[in-house]
Amino acid sequence: MENGKKILEKLKNEISQNEYNRYIKNLEFDESSSRSDILIYNAPNILSAKWIQTKYAKKIAHLYEVDSGINAEVIIQVKNAKTKSKAPMKKSIKKDSSSTLLNPSFTFESFVTGNSNELAFNVSLAVAKNPSTQYNPLFIYGGVGLGKTHLMQAVGNYRLNEGDKVIYNTFEQFMNRYIAHIRSNTMDRFRDFYRNCDILLIDDIQFISRKEQTQDEFFHTFNELHSLGKQIVITSDRPPKKIAGLVDRLKSRFEWGMLVSINPPELETKIAIIKKKALLDGIRLDDDVVNFLASNLGNNIREIEGTIIKLNAMSHLLRKPITLEFAKDAVSDYLQDKKENITIDDIIEIVSEELNIKPSDIKSKKRAKKIVEARRIAIYLARNLTPNSMPQIAVYFGMKDHSAISHTMKKIEEILESDENFKVLIEEISNKVETFKTK
Ligand code: ADP
Ligand code: MG
Repeated sequence: MENGKKILEKLKNEISQNEYNRYIKNLEFDESSSRSDILIYNAPNILSAKWIQTKYAKKIAHLYEVDSGINAEVIIQVKNAKTKSKAPMKKSIKKDSSSTLLNPSFTFESFVTGNSNELAFNVSLAVAKNPSTQYNPLFIYGGVGLGKTHLMQAVGNYRLNEGDKVIYNTFEQFMNRYIAHIRSNTMDRFRDFYRNCDILLIDDIQFISRKEQTQDEFFHTFNELHSLGKQIVITSDRPPKKIAGLVDRLKSRFEWGMLVSINPPELETKIAIIKKKALLDGIRLDDDVVNFLASNLGNNIREIEGTIIKLNAMSHLLRKPITLEFAKDAVSDYLQDKKENITIDDIIEIVSEELNIKPSDIKSKKRAKKIVEARRIAIYLARNLTPNSMPQIAVYFGMKDHSAISHTMKKIEEILESDENFKVLIEEISNKVETFKTK
């Protein structure tokens, strides 16, 4: 996690010297408050904190993800805020888990259940108690921030406590290790490493798409462990059959065991999670604030946690209690920041680069098939990634009224439902747009 510091060095290479000196140089990584998936930095004052959050937080998160394979929330707070936002570490884990990269606070006890995640929870617990029996492999899938890594690591922490040798890797880490060993001609060591564990946890396997050689190696690792009766747990943001470019033999292996999904939390579960987080972090939140947060923040629980930490930091800084008013102000700023950042022009620029269509054509009324497609994608992203209303977007693209926009949205959603490759394309472009803006 000292990574948090290292990332600022990397950021240095991506922005101008001037920007670096002005904003990033005085940014301090708050190691004691951070954890592997929430990075907290201290800025010298509230203005620069806000600015850095808006301009650079995403970029930092992106660099961190490239480096560690972990998709983290980045929070910029103010230096002198005497916060107690320290993430709740330890618990009853006896062994030192740092060597396996497990987060010791990801346990079954700290996981809140509801309809959305109950099945995944129960199956994971069964695997932790009796590995390599009924459910092997266990494949957990669901959207970002819904608790996949938490559950997977809860299994890992449980097994670690039982004395098992646990390997936790993101798929990215597995792949990087594989590539490094190929380069140094030490594949026997690579194989020894993976084959000597009792339980293998591979997080975010969706990145396996189209990486043929690594798929091959993973296939062998999988078979070997499985035939030795070792437990394997895998997570992904989608079910195996929707991972584009996943070879059939792996697809069928993944379906051998137990496939279980985690769904977005229902309101009650969100409320329970917020209460639990606040309690663990020693933050006082009244019920009206909890209800407000649960109904106004999205389903990504990592983001919800980030908001609670931020709220707490601001409350200390401004020396104000977290009332409903206070929360509303803080959260609307936060939500605004996240969206206002991106403009329709940015989107057109990226779509134009990705699909090789001129920006002027995207904005024109030309009817050529490729141009129409690019225009529809741009409209779809403009609606989802910017705060513009449908009438505003209509004006921008020179369309008669908002009904044309709403028609386009429906059209794209239809295609997204049925065409997996199109979905991957849209996700890739939208990721580009979101990281582009922080450059
Ligand atoms: P994913 O891997 O699905 O993207 P994570 O497992 O990293 O999501 O979860 C994101 C954050 O939300 C973590 O800090 C995790 O502890 C928390 N979280 C998710 N679901 C729950 C839950 N049901 N109860 C408590 N915390 C949760
Ligand atoms: Mg995860």
